[in-house]
Amino acid sequence: MTEAKSIMDYASELMDDEPRPSWMYDYHEHTTACEVALTRYQKRSSSKIVREPKTEYERYLSEPHWQTLRLAVLMLSGGKCCRCGDVADDVHHLRYQDEHKRSLRYRERAADVEPVCRECHRRDHDAEQVMKLVRKMTGGVS
Ligand SMILES: [Zn+2]
Ligand SMILES: [Zn+2]
Repeated sequence: MTEAKSIMDYASELMDDEPRPSWMYDYHEHTTACEVALTRYQKRSSSKIVREPKTEYERYLSEPHWQTLRLAVLMLSGGKCCRCGDVADDVHHLRYQDEHKRSLRYRERAADVEPVCRECHRRDHDAEQVMKLVRKMTGGVS
């Protein structure tokens, strides 16, 4: 196991990624906006009741790695949804595997994730469900 990384460690790594996603602030240029956002999320998560993870994927999301990366992403977005500019609640995985079909777990890069509000996030996953259904109905050919 590697040593636990801090939110700022994750933020620095994300800011090094090229190209920098459009939702991402440079922490050094937007320190106040980032810190205001971070404080808000930290307050919220500590007051939230941690529910029992039901699936293996939920367990992954409950681990310190994802929880810390999630906070770094939300902080660097200034707490804004990358789609509509509303307050972001979640960090969405754009993909789960790299181009070699290897899992991105524990090594997500800036381009693999996005800060989104509940509403936009729900829409994403609804669209995913529709695509799955279409693939099923067309016998996997799409
Ligand atoms: Zn949104
Ligand atoms: Zn998602």
